[in-house]
This record gives sequence, structure tokens and C-alpha cells, in this order.
Amino acid sequence: MSENPKFNFTGKVAFVTGAGSGIGRATALAFASAGAAVSIADISEAGLEATAEQITALGVKVLAQRCDVTKTAEIKAVLDTTVATFGRLDCAFNNAGIEQPGASIIDLSEEMLDRVLDVNLKSVFLCMKHEIPLMLKNGGGSIVNTSSGAGVMAIRNQSGYCASKFGVTVASKVAALEFADQGIRVNALCPGIIDTPMIARYTGGTEEGRARIIKQEPVGRMGRPEEIAATVLFMCSDLGAFITGHALVADGAQTAGI
Ligand code: NAD
Repeated sequence: MSENPKFNFTGKVAFVTGAGSGIGRATALAFASAGAAVSIADISEAGLEATAEQITALGVKVLAQRCDVTKTAEIKAVLDTTVATFGRLDCAFNNAGIEQPGASIIDLSEEMLDRVLDVNLKSVFLCMKHEIPLMLKNGGGSIVNTSSGAGVMAIRNQSGYCASKFGVTVASKVAALEFADQGIRVNALCPGIIDTPMIARYTGGTEEGRARIIKQEPVGRMGRPEEIAATVLFMCSDLGAFITGHALVADGAQTAGI
């Protein structure tokens, strides 16, 4: 538990999507370690169960619910249950996402385009739509949406993924403008290349694949999920009280040259 009162989430309730793996799991654990009650959601029941076990082992309250973030009724239901269980909603990390197989814009199938936009972008709209009214009931809150380096810079053969993440960046800024005077902060977080199962799939999990992608990172290594989790907590905490409408890169200088 943090000694710094501005970095203490005791009495707060945090909601995390995509919490069954990678960045989402690390962030759910970080919220729990900082004293928050944590509500976690993911489409993968096995992933959720593993995260819930790790949170319970910390002696922290956790609510784990399967949810497909592309479905508005499912998102509303898990958020309503969160408030029914823990009494309030203070922080939300809208993070669930999928990768897009590399394909030129003329080869990207309509089906893949719809899927990547639905999971990565539409879900963020749906989550904010249902989270903000709940946060307003207790005078405000803080939302962080997972964008990407691909949400601030174009990447060849990633048109669908980039469009989804640029969309997340701008939707976060619009929501921040709309609710700044009502105590709701909304920011986008743009991670660089982070060592998660998503990246293992993207690189094929081979040493050559990893080495190829690490070349894109000026720091010479991938980021760790815990490093992104720490950034999310900073943005949600009172230390970040004046940060809203911002797209923060945590990326080892990957996008510093753009
Ligand atoms: P991951 O694959 O390890 O975890 C993603 C989680 O999202 C999984 O548990 C998955 O089950 C869940 N998910 C997928 N579709 C879902 C749906 N329809 N409903 C609910 N849950 C769903 O990936 P990660 O690397 O931890 O990625 C997390 C987020 O970070 C994603 O939005 C991703 O685009 C973004 N991101 C990742 C990197 C990176 O290098 N790993 C870089 C920039 C941005």
C-alpha cells in the first residue's frame, strides 16, 4: 500500500477490461496493491480466473465477470453489478483489445476491419457511455483508455489497428472536454512494445521475431506490463489531478522521432 496519500486507492473502486492477460492483468493487480477494490472483465474466463486468484492472494476484494466489450448490454450489466457489489465506480481502464494481422489496406478483409474497430474502438465508446453516469453519481472519476503508439503514428500494413487506436486517442480527448467541468478526467495511454501474449502472437514468439520488433524500440528492450500499469495508476491517482484530455506515451522513445 502506498504511503503517499495522493497515490492511495483505499476506498476506491477500479474497473479494468481485458484484465485476463497482459497489460490489463498487471493493471488490475496494481490497483489491488494500491488498495482499490477491483472489478475485472474479459472475454476469456480462464484468463479472468487466473487474474482473480492473484488478486485474492493479495487479500483484496475482486469481482470477476465475463464480458464481451463489443456488446453494450454486457458492458452495462458488468458495470451495474460492479456498483451493486462495491457501491461506486471511481476509475476505469478500458483496455481490452486485439491485434490486426499485417495486411496492406487493399488486402485487409472487411471482416477483420469490422472486428478490430469493434473490439478496440467501439468498445471504448460503449464503456465510457456507461461508466461516466456512474462516476458522476459520486462526484467524478478518472478514465484511461488504451490507445497505442499506433494511435499517434501511422504504421505500414496496420491501417485497421491504427484507425482504431487513433480513434481511441481522439474519443478520449472529446470525452475529456465534455466532462472536464464535472470532475471526470479522461486520458488515452499509448504504450510502446510491451512484452505480453499479444506481442508473442505478433512476433510468432521466436527470438528472431522478438529481436526484429525490439529494433523499433530506441531503449533496446520491450516494456513490461507492470510499467504500463504504473503509468495508468499515476494517471488515475490524485497525482494526475490536472491531467485530462491527454494522450500519454509510455514507449521507450518509440514515437519520439515522429
Ligand atoms: P493481451 O492479448 O495480452 O490481452 C488482451 C486481453 O483482451 C485478453 O485477455 C483478451 O481476452 C481480452 N479481449 C479481447 N477481446 C475482447 C473482447 N471482445 N471482450 C473482452 N475482452 C477481450 O494484449 P495486451 O498486450 O495486454 O493488450 C492490451 C491492450 O494494449 C490492447 O488494447 C492492445 O491493443 C494495447 N496495446 C498493446 C501493446 C503491446 O505491445 N502489447 C502496445 C500498444 C497497445
